[in-house]
Amino acid sequence: MPEYTAPLADMRFVLEHLADLQSVASLPGFDHVEADAVYSVLEESARFMEDLVAPLNRGGDLQGSVRNADGTVTTPDGFVAAYKAYVGAGWGGVVFPAEYGGGGFPWLVGIAMQEMLTSANMAFSMCPLLNQGAVDMLLHHASEEHKETYLPKMISGEWTGTMNLTEPQAGSDVGALTTKAVPQDDGTYRITGTKIFISFGEHDLSENIIHLVLARTPSAPPGTKGISCFIVPKYLLDDDGSLGARNDVTCVGIEHKMGIKASPTCVLSYGDRGEGAVGFLIGEENAGMRYMFTMMNNARLSVGVEGLGLAERAFQMAVTYAKERKQGRVPGYPAGHQSAIVEHPDVRRMLLTQRAGIEALRGVIYLNAAALDRASHGADEAARAAGAELADLLTPVSKGWGTDLGVELTSLALQVFGGMGYIEETGVAQHVRDARIAPIYEGTNGIQAIDLVGRKLPMRGGAAVGDHLDRMAALDADLAAAGADLASIREALADGVAALRSVTDWLLANGLANPLDALAGATPYLRQFSMVTGGWVMALQALAATALLAGATPADRAFLEGKVLTARFYCEQLLPQAAGLGPAVTATNRDLAAAVF
Ligand SMILES: Cc1cc2nc3c(=O)[nH]c(=O)nc-3n(C[C@H](O)[C@H](O)[C@H](O)COP(=O)(O)OP(=O)(O)OC[C@H]3O[C@@H](n4cnc5c(N)ncnc54)[C@H](O)[C@@H]3O)c2cc1C
Repeated sequence: MPEYTAPLADMRFVLEHLADLQSVASLPGFDHVEADAVYSVLEESARFMEDLVAPLNRGGDLQGSVRNADGTVTTPDGFVAAYKAYVGAGWGGVVFPAEYGGGGFPWLVGIAMQEMLTSANMAFSMCPLLNQGAVDMLLHHASEEHKETYLPKMISGEWTGTMNLTEPQAGSDVGALTTKAVPQDDGTYRITGTKIFISFGEHDLSENIIHLVLARTPSAPPGTKGISCFIVPKYLLDDDGSLGARNDVTCVGIEHKMGIKASPTCVLSYGDRGEGAVGFLIGEENAGMRYMFTMMNNARLSVGVEGLGLAERAFQMAVTYAKERKQGRVPGYPAGHQSAIVEHPDVRRMLLTQRAGIEALRGVIYLNAAALDRASHGADEAARAAGAELADLLTPVSKGWGTDLGVELTSLALQVFGGMGYIEETGVAQHVRDARIAPIYEGTNGIQAIDLVGRKLPMRGGAAVGDHLDRMAALDADLAAAGADLASIREALADGVAALRSVTDWLLANGLANPLDALAGATPYLRQFSMVTGGWVMALQALAATALLAGATPADRAFLEGKVLTARFYCEQLLPQAAGLGPAVTATNRDLAAAVF
């Protein structure tokens, strides 16, 4: 029995019928992408993740990455070979432009591959993920010379990238960072300071590491307006592009963490040797935060995928265990019979709750990725603007709800195991521990909620969210036409959208005038917004499956009926909880402000 089996049929269903891969692949610039070829690539990627990456997950957790006395970091057994194979197969470059050696595939395809990589081994996946963020930044903002110097090797994965934002006093408040960058006569900068929590800041998987470092120049204004972004390679390059002198950046420690133990989380010191590490400015001085924002949607979506990937992996384990473990007797069986726990209604509730959450989340995340593709490759300005707006709205949902569900659903999977889940040898506990970081990094989920209320809700004076509500409500006609089978889905979605519309109106009317009230309601609003958006996705799923059932083979019928059933369960039993969050959204800041701690 493999440790992880990529859910290719489920992924394909979403790609084909919800995210409309066919139409994404027909966008300008994706002419070489054939939908059928995409499914072959995904199958190949699935085999790679199942056979090579997933088996390293548990060993990586036990062994962890280790910092040696000389400041080098050794990753767990098997990681170097697996990473070499990953680079050799070209998996890291699939979504990046062909001119720098990438595959030029849509982000939608990359996200599906990322789901499998994360399910297989989240700690391992962090290295390609951070590299992807760094590549994205360079693609958008670096000079042509820097792109030609760094991108081919980073896109191939021979070199890996890091993102250096956090400092001890500057976490969510990035504007508080103090790392210095002093300009030199030769056009370079000298970087001094300490960065903490830098994922894969040092490791043995690649021959060079390209750090992207946020720092302040001497004349920089305070706060986020005074941040610049620099390329600081671990090894400087000689004129012929070969690796030259070691730059002045040192890993002075790695953190002992609750999870993702194989991912080295480094304290990096810049300038220990004296004059500072050599850095190269990206774009203009003081524009670093603006540059970060252009890649933020992609990076946040990728972290949302971590919630999905781990929930899926833990769910697979829970199903297997529930079929093997025998306890008690389900009513209707003779005395002395022992039932597999999968037969108990309460265990089935836990399993179906996991499946429904995973399917809703996969739908939201893949739609989010498709919106990013439309934003960058849409045929005209209006199409690109519509894609960007939907991506802006869905990103806090993918990141915030996705990673919260990652924690909740892996925990529910552990619950299915009973006491054995709490025992490390079973393996499911690792997924709960690994999942816990995702609501914290790449903007805590509190910051995601504030982003939704403070930046996304005011878009076009509330009309962007209004359009999303209308889009969800517009499904009513199709659901009505689908008849009695989907009646309860129709009713639940209509109720959910109406409740969300009501609190949205309240926030628009009160939030702008009383920002503390809006901030106080932000987290329950994000949850409600996400659950209703998940309901819309489940309704789309039910409609697509119902339409396909008409001409389905007996083998496909079970799969499609399962899709309708899961959508119905979500809408009848989970979605109604969304309306219950309304009072928390509109409660105002009164009691939060008055509470004494
Ligand atoms: C394993 C791991 C890997 C990481 N990898 C990287 C990396 O590669 N590169 C990198 O630069 N950083 C990385 N980080 C850092 C990570 O991004 C930060 O931990 C995160 O941004 C939160 O900052 P903080 O830890 O200082 O928490 P704080 O900012 O101190 O937040 C503490 C709490 O206060 C809340 N809070 C803070 N400010 C506000 C506000 N304005 N409004 C409302 N609530 C607020 C937060 O939501 C949170 O609940 C990593 C961290 C970890 C643990």
